[in-house]
Amino acid sequence: MLEIFQALPKVSERRLSLRLTPAGEKKMRQGGPWIYDTWVPEDPMGLPGDLAVVFDGKKRFVGIGLWDPTSSIRLRVLHAGSPVKIDAAWFHGKLAGAAALRATLMDDPAHKTDGYRLVNGENDGLPGVVVDAFADTCVIKLYSPCWIPHLPVLWEGLMAIHGWERVVLRLNRAMQSQPKHLHGLRDGQILSGPELSGPVLFRENGIVFEAEPVIGQKTGFFLDQRDNRARVEALSRGRDVLNVFSYTGGFSVYAARGGAKSVTSVDLSVPATEAARRNFAHNRFDPTVARCPHEALAQDAFVALEEMRKTGKRFGLVVLDPPMFAQSRAEVETALAAYARLTRLGLSVLAPGGVLVQASCSNRVDAESFFACIHEAARQAGRPLEEIERTGHALDHPVTFEQGSYLKCLFAKAA
Ligand code: SAH
Repeated sequence: MLEIFQALPKVSERRLSLRLTPAGEKKMRQGGPWIYDTWVPEDPMGLPGDLAVVFDGKKRFVGIGLWDPTSSIRLRVLHAGSPVKIDAAWFHGKLAGAAALRATLMDDPAHKTDGYRLVNGENDGLPGVVVDAFADTCVIKLYSPCWIPHLPVLWEGLMAIHGWERVVLRLNRAMQSQPKHLHGLRDGQILSGPELSGPVLFRENGIVFEAEPVIGQKTGFFLDQRDNRARVEALSRGRDVLNVFSYTGGFSVYAARGGAKSVTSVDLSVPATEAARRNFAHNRFDPTVARCPHEALAQDAFVALEEMRKTGKRFGLVVLDPPMFAQSRAEVETALAAYARLTRLGLSVLAPGGVLVQASCSNRVDAESFFACIHEAARQAGRPLEEIERTGHALDHPVTFEQGSYLKCLFAKAA
């Protein structure tokens, strides 16, 4: 047990007893991981992380979850169905199950990939927890203070899976804004292992990348695009590749290794473009990467694309992987309009016969609407698309509930 865990509230022996509205109860029986405040008619006066048992009108067990009075997601469901005991063994079992699902990545004898998502929150039955691995550094990202009393158990379970050299804690923005529920924990805190003075290096399909687990976006790297990056590698030979919203150049290095004639990365963030340059440098041992000219521009994507169009710059493959455009249902229409605008801009710098790769990570925007919107924009631009492939999540990002699916990506050849 770590010393920093001494200050955390102990897991309470108390079990809250809850009744839900019919809508809430139905959702829980269907396996929904989130129970909203509007479905909980009576406040059981619990603390974040208390185990709350839901009973139906006949006092029968419906399920159990972690109570969170600080969020509109009042209960994060751990289990629904027949009664179970939630204890350390239960949490450890969930973590071991998640690890088993990634066994092909984790036990890769050639050690070609040691950056992967070990726990994908709700989709691995642990709602509100994401765990990413970057070589021997493990990053736990929490999305609710209901996990804080259970953090020692999570840490122990993770250490049992792999003897991580270092475990980093990340907290989402909502948690950071409620310091009184954090019990001294900080975003970016090293829970165990040596301090970190810079990025950590890890490998993805043999490519060396750096991740910034302490200060980077999300947990420091977008592992969810691994398979799509490999697809881009396979399509890049002999092409000038433009990677827009490049972050630290994930798609860019793959394109270079795939034999791209040149690679241009564009991202608004200066530190991200600097990291993209370093990621190229980390892979100079590979002559194909070393040979490929790479330019990283710290610029607004829309402005950069517009300038390239005007100056007549053209590419053979364009990747568009923007941040989430729709935060809520109300923003879906605006998001679709922004995706369409990006498609038009992307096509305006894509040479005839070039490949467009466009992704969306907005879970509010469903796959059908997204793909339809790209096709419509391309038709209107007089550049109809011939699909190569539609893709989604990689193996370490399983999807087990409706809102768990967010990533969609279209690979298409433009007229
Ligand atoms: N494709 C990346 C992940 C992209 S995440 C990968 O595979 O790793 C989205 C990125 O868009 C972030 O790096 C963010 O800095 C950048 N971004 C957000 N708004 C932008 C804008 N208006 N112009 C350019 N980049 C932007």
